[in-house]
Amino acid sequence: MRKRLKRWGALALALLMAGMLCACAQGSGEERAAEVKRVVVEATCETEGYVEHWYEDGYVCRDSFTPKTQHDYLEYTLGAEHNLTRYICRHCGREKVLYEEVEVNTDVVVDPTRERPSFVGLDVMVCAMILERTPDEAILAIRRAEQKGAYGFMVYVSCLEPQYRTLQSLQRIMHCTQKPVLAIAYSVNTFFPQNLSFDEMASLLTLSVEAGAAAVDLQGYMWDTDTLGGLRANRAYWTEQGYDMSFVSASPAEVSGAPLAIQKPAAFTKSINEMGGEVLLSVHASAQMSAEQIVAMAKYLDKIDVDIIKMVVGGSSNETVIEHLKACNTLSQAGTLSAKFSVHGQSTLSRLMCPMFGSYIAFCVDEYTEAQTNIQIDLETMLAIMNSPEMKEVLR
Ligand SMILES: [Zn+2]
Repeated sequence: MRKRLKRWGALALALLMAGMLCACAQGSGEERAAEVKRVVVEATCETEGYVEHWYEDGYVCRDSFTPKTQHDYLEYTLGAEHNLTRYICRHCGREKVLYEEVEVNTDVVVDPTRERPSFVGLDVMVCAMILERTPDEAILAIRRAEQKGAYGFMVYVSCLEPQYRTLQSLQRIMHCTQKPVLAIAYSVNTFFPQNLSFDEMASLLTLSVEAGAAAVDLQGYMWDTDTLGGLRANRAYWTEQGYDMSFVSASPAEVSGAPLAIQKPAAFTKSINEMGGEVLLSVHASAQMSAEQIVAMAKYLDKIDVDIIKMVVGGSSNETVIEHLKACNTLSQAGTLSAKFSVHGQSTLSRLMCPMFGSYIAFCVDEYTEAQTNIQIDLETMLAIMNSPEMKEVLR
């Protein structure tokens, strides 16, 4: 004991003093029995350090606490993961993951021989929405979202300033990633108001496919200015053709009804498919609809032979979300539709849950800007859910 005390020197003496004065002072004023053993326990990353005192009468106490130490991390990898490093503490097994901020640039090599990626070829499409004014801004936004793990991108080509709606600019955007890009040309966006005719929208989408886009968004009202009128007027006609037209009572927007109105969209779809591109038919029905009405509308829209049918329906109450989920459940049963489908309502709950029930596209935003509609789900949140082992089990 004397030897060890000597070795500890002043520090041990101080510890001894502290021990006598504070934590181990018990039985106020009484004589303490002789100390028979003293153990110094070093701090670790899990527990504080302390000095343990054993006394002749069996009393044990601790004092002179020292703080926990830092974890001692070892780096390790799990398969082919990019832009992240995993660490594990060699003492306690605690794990942490660091995401690397890799500098993104706007250098693009356009490879005309590249095999076109497929937008519809996955089990689920966790998709980042890109609304930018210039190709460089769009490329940076795509590459940042790609680092986070986005499976694909929806690029609003109509948001590009007019001088960038060229084959060369679009090629840089479509070739800046090996992941699929869906090109969208909407006439009106709150922050990018455009006044494009139907033919101008179709030309811009066709140019996007020529530039390397995987797919295009064909709006349900293209070349049809009276969708609901035509739908009501031809309800009996379509019923005779074998369609359940019960959804017309909900007054959905953007669904063409006149038999002749499907000729141009059908021809456009055929021409895009012939170029090797895929077509997503999008309907922003807005109306609140029952599950049965959503399913009937999807089957009606399936008559144009597109690759994906996207339906955005109205309502944000829990009751309407349950209808959306029931519709997803029915539509995901084999044989219901020839196209893939995507359904969600205009609420966060619906956007979050529909992909868990078979809806193909999870619309996400990587970085919120004034141009992004903040009702979209955060990309990393959605990826964490869809990439979780639990969801892989559900989606199997
Ligand atoms: Zn540790």
